[in-house]
Amino acid sequence: MAADGKDYYEILGVPRNASKEEIKRAYRRLALQYHPDRNKSPDAEEKFKEISEAYAVLSDDEKRRLYDMYGRAGVSSTYTEEDLFRSTRFDFEELFRDLGLGDFESIFERFFGFRGRDRGPEPTRVELEISLEDAFRGGERVFTINLRDVCDRCEGSGAEPGWLEKCRVCNGSGQRVERRQTGFMYFTTVTTCRACGGLGQTVKKRCEKCGGGGTVVRPSQVRVHVPPGVNDGDVLVLRNMGVWDRMGGRRGDLLVQFRVRPHPYIRRVGDNLVVNLPVAVSEVVSGRRIVVPTLDGDVEVKLSPELLTRPLILRGRGMPGGRGRGDLEIRVEVTVPDNLSREVKNLYERLSLLEGGLMDEKRRRLFHR
Ligand SMILES: [Zn+2]
Ligand SMILES: [Zn+2]
Repeated sequence: MAADGKDYYEILGVPRNASKEEIKRAYRRLALQYHPDRNKSPDAEEKFKEISEAYAVLSDDEKRRLYDMYGRAGVSSTYTEEDLFRSTRFDFEELFRDLGLGDFESIFERFFGFRGRDRGPEPTRVELEISLEDAFRGGERVFTINLRDVCDRCEGSGAEPGWLEKCRVCNGSGQRVERRQTGFMYFTTVTTCRACGGLGQTVKKRCEKCGGGGTVVRPSQVRVHVPPGVNDGDVLVLRNMGVWDRMGGRRGDLLVQFRVRPHPYIRRVGDNLVVNLPVAVSEVVSGRRIVVPTLDGDVEVKLSPELLTRPLILRGRGMPGGRGRGDLEIRVEVTVPDNLSREVKNLYERLSLLEGGLMDEKRRRLFHR
């Protein structure tokens, strides 16, 4: 969407508690000022898009509510840019007619590349946050999102029941066919009928529930099968599970993008899992056995000085991947325990005297060969 970061209320120059009338008045004034057919400055087009987007959201109760609660993210996770203008098209059409600004279709086609009825709805994108454990195991997740759905009062027509008529301009075909003659040649061009926007029908009275857009937003439950081993950023495409689109008369796809939360001590590297394991020197030297929790159960590790330079690799205990499971890599990291007791400190002091002598010897050999 255009103008990221800018506040819709600021864009229209209205207070947050502005009434619908104030919002409309502000948009009318700015639309006259910035319409690219009237304003030839280079940034007029961008400005016009910006105010139109702000108006599309703030003029609609449901979108304004989403915006006030969740900001742009709330609106853009429910509507595509095209939806924003489509579902308020009657409002725009009326305004443009009033202001003498040319028709809605052509200006928005020019800006956003909207096309007629043959185009399916845009896919809807959602992000699903999961833990590394969920990504490891896979399984089913159910969540609820607000999706634009067909209006149950008008069944998507946008008209009050009984108030839909066949378009008189195109006789219901939704297309305008023009024949032109140039010399001996005839050209036939087929364009979308502007009177009905390609629908072949015109609305005599707008639906009371959806205001003519043909759609309403309602919560929709989505069931997702998380594939075991799924990676951060992977996208799952759910066909025909997205928003309903009046122009296409069908649902678009729903794209679920997985976001894997970082784990406090297990990292994923390709299909391998890496554990950074804090150990004390005494544990390494004495060969202590410790239990390491992993994503699929505990692993017992016998510590040894070799592990200070070479990680312990457990084949096939990593993430499920394309070619079976990756490896689990345990890297020990020497650290000093927190809150050393007096007793441990005393032991370290004694150890330092004994070990210090041995280390002096080792260093002497190293430096005076
Ligand atoms: Zn309706
Ligand atoms: Zn028509």
